[in-house]
Amino acid sequence: MKPYPCPNCARPNHFEVRVCPNCSFTLGYDPESDQFLFLGDGATIWRDADGGEHDVIVCANNNNYKICNWLVPAIGNQPLCLACRHNRTIPDLTGPNVPERWAKIEAAKRRLFHTLLHLKLPIETVAEAEANGTSPGLAFDFLYDPVGEQTGTVQITTGHEAGVITLNLLEADDVQREKMRTSLGEPYRTILGHFRHEVGHYYFSRLIEDTNEVENFRKLFGDERISYEDAKSQHYGEGGGGWSGDYVSAYATMHPWEDFAETFAHLMHIVDALATLDGFGMRMTKWKWQEEEPSVDFDPYHADIGQLIQEWGPFAFAENAVNRSMGQPDLYPFQLSEKIVAKLDYINRLLHRAGDGDIAAKVPALREQRERAEREAA
Ligand SMILES: [Zn+2]
Ligand SMILES: [Zn+2]
Ligand SMILES: [Zn+2]
Repeated sequence: MKPYPCPNCARPNHFEVRVCPNCSFTLGYDPESDQFLFLGDGATIWRDADGGEHDVIVCANNNNYKICNWLVPAIGNQPLCLACRHNRTIPDLTGPNVPERWAKIEAAKRRLFHTLLHLKLPIETVAEAEANGTSPGLAFDFLYDPVGEQTGTVQITTGHEAGVITLNLLEADDVQREKMRTSLGEPYRTILGHFRHEVGHYYFSRLIEDTNEVENFRKLFGDERISYEDAKSQHYGEGGGGWSGDYVSAYATMHPWEDFAETFAHLMHIVDALATLDGFGMRMTKWKWQEEEPSVDFDPYHADIGQLIQEWGPFAFAENAVNRSMGQPDLYPFQLSEKIVAKLDYINRLLHRAGDGDIAAKVPALREQRERAEREAA
């Protein structure tokens, strides 16, 4: 995402900031106007950089737990921000390390929602989806098993089921996550990556499953009706887990659903990274190979895949070079093949259509069909 300046002193800040490190004013992100607002010393009115007043309050998860920096419209009776209101289960915060881990999870979730909002994708809560007739709504369960952590037998699986995304709290522990990453041989494992993957399953169910779109999906990702359980035991069994240039990760090879979710997450990574580069106005003035002076002179949230990939290639290379200069592993440990780009293209177009409202309309129609079928069956 683009860097957001402090509306009081203009210092560029990270998205997670609550107090500007330069001017010490309290800051809050207003998703409606897509900017940070500030509260001056002793002030009660939130203002933007031009002095404009905004009728907003801080998210209740900031007042109660100090874990959210988003703002909510003061009118209405919704105390939680657009990201926090989707929580169905939060972990028991009395345990040691739990508040810090939960805070990390919420910070990643706000970044997820920032991208979804910029893509204009449907993000109804369960209650909103039921009211709109667009089920399933989106909800989150953040689960923690303290005994399992002690004994190394945590049984919580991160995943998606009918709109509910479950995340194991241990994914917020760097040591535990790194252990899981190396044991699974993954080049990349982050909380934000988990969210982008799981929400990919959600949009599969919202935009593709049970619609005519599934035929187009199968042409690229394969037939999702094959047994998931068989695919899973094969993947984790002997000889499984191979990775070819047709898939963005080894995990994507397991089943068409996972291929879609992995490719969906990958598109989010590229779009968000390009939005960041664009936000800084970065250009590569000394890059002379194929295309001169790569830059992001377009809106990455609404660009075609050709533009995204053409600019991303040189920047990803340069970012890897910077990381190597610091003795760090590559920022972007992936290679894109023609097949992968075709899948990215499919998802990118699908999301643009969903963002324009062309697909979401299908969902109520399907719901009506199902209701009619249920009435007839009754
Ligand atoms: Zn400031
Ligand atoms: Zn919040
Ligand atoms: Zn998955």
